Amino acid sequence: MPLRMWMLDLAREQAPTLDHLYHYAAFSLDAGYDTLGLYLEHRFAYAAAPWAQGNGCVTPGMVRRLQSEFPSLRIVPFINLLGHMEGFLNSEGGSTMRETPFRGMQACPSSPRAVEFCRRLLVETMDAFASDLVHIGGDETWELGACPVCSERSGGRSSIYGYHFGPLARAVVDAGKTPAVWGDMFLEHPDALQQLPSETVVFDWQYFGGLRDSAPRLMQHGHKIVGCPTLHVYDAAWMHVTESEANVREVSRDVAELGLEGVCLTTWESALFGAYDTVLPAVRGARAIMDDPSGAPGLLASYGAEEGWADLMSNGLAGFGGDFGFDGHRSRLKCRLLLYGNPFLAWKHHRAELTGAAGTKVLDLCAAALAETKDEGCRGVTVFVRTAVEFVQMAEIAYGHYAAGSPELAIKALSPARQAFDGLETVAKRTHERTGGSLADIERCRVAKEHVERVIRRISHYGRGELGYLPAFDVITHPRFVPHDQACWWGVNKWGDE
Ligand SMILES: [Zn+2]
Repeated sequence: MPLRMWMLDLAREQAPTLDHLYHYAAFSLDAGYDTLGLYLEHRFAYAAAPWAQGNGCVTPGMVRRLQSEFPSLRIVPFINLLGHMEGFLNSEGGSTMRETPFRGMQACPSSPRAVEFCRRLLVETMDAFASDLVHIGGDETWELGACPVCSERSGGRSSIYGYHFGPLARAVVDAGKTPAVWGDMFLEHPDALQQLPSETVVFDWQYFGGLRDSAPRLMQHGHKIVGCPTLHVYDAAWMHVTESEANVREVSRDVAELGLEGVCLTTWESALFGAYDTVLPAVRGARAIMDDPSGAPGLLASYGAEEGWADLMSNGLAGFGGDFGFDGHRSRLKCRLLLYGNPFLAWKHHRAELTGAAGTKVLDLCAAALAETKDEGCRGVTVFVRTAVEFVQMAEIAYGHYAAGSPELAIKALSPARQAFDGLETVAKRTHERTGGSLADIERCRVAKEHVERVIRRISHYGRGELGYLPAFDVITHPRFVPHDQACWWGVNKWGDE
């Protein structure tokens, strides 16, 4: 029987209780999966990193209880031992292991401390997880060779990469288990494959096509391959269901035709108002497609009573194009509304597509979607999109009054935004309680509301030209606005901002 697996991304701020994990495990078996992957990064309570144990992270004790409760489900740890260590690197205790100062996501493979740290994470992972398969990561290590020490190493990036992961994979083999790695960096540095023990399984993730080009290249040294499609959540306001389905079908078909080990469906990034319970029906639908890529029903059908909602929030929204369209880019609207502490970025970049008649169409679609569902998770997703559009529209009206010299009317237009972010905070709290969702999303709503209040104060102080000039609206709404810094030197000196 080929591998049938899905991977839950806990690293992106998920904070599951043991009950939530029980729910995910029971769901996995019920949906027909033999294997559940838990993608962890820094969200596992490692004794080697007591300084990185954020609230709500998964503990070894939780994993042991989960395994004893679900003995028929293989629970595979996905850790990351070079790239995507940003949760460790941005905690005090891990910051000296960075490959690139200030903005890095990768540890330095020339740092003895980082190498020993990776080894300890691996040992602790294998101690807690009974699984014979241990995924040690390795994707997206774009910073290879960046630091002064690494740049001097002979053999270049490929050699640095192979010499880092070879010993880690061998340690898994020595423990009597099977190592797994992501394939992307080995496609870029094929020589590094020779450093991996032959037992290593390569997870070939291809989210925009099949495996026909990549898998044969990754098999050159005899390694087994698992094909990985994804549910396009990270690059959507909610999910691109049609493109996700096409990806699952194509990868599943290629896995069968190329005789590969099996399929692992990845589901990334449910922070920024994703909600895992709204994704699970698609995970269930994908399982049937893995076995019958041509004949199995589509993912929308797996939504049952919520099918109309799912169609509107995926295909309906995508029909508006712009940021709602499918382009593989992380959702700009989600990020700009909440990720940077400045929701006015959403206004600045999306005012053309979200105000006027275009914005009305999106709000009408949200109203129709809300009428289609009583499910709390689905409703929360839609309320988030609706609020994003409403905020952009409030800001546009405020901008018009501000530029026309009516600060009082601008403030009046912005005032309801505070309640809007209160409403989103409630959604985020409920998503956290219901699914073990992001704690940061709750705080992001508070930050957004506080910033709106700050902007309202600024407009009341400086909106009548009290400074002798009227700051541009995107300046007075910027978190770094300083009165009398008319030229915005905080923006000119970008080097000073690191
Ligand atoms: Zn380095």
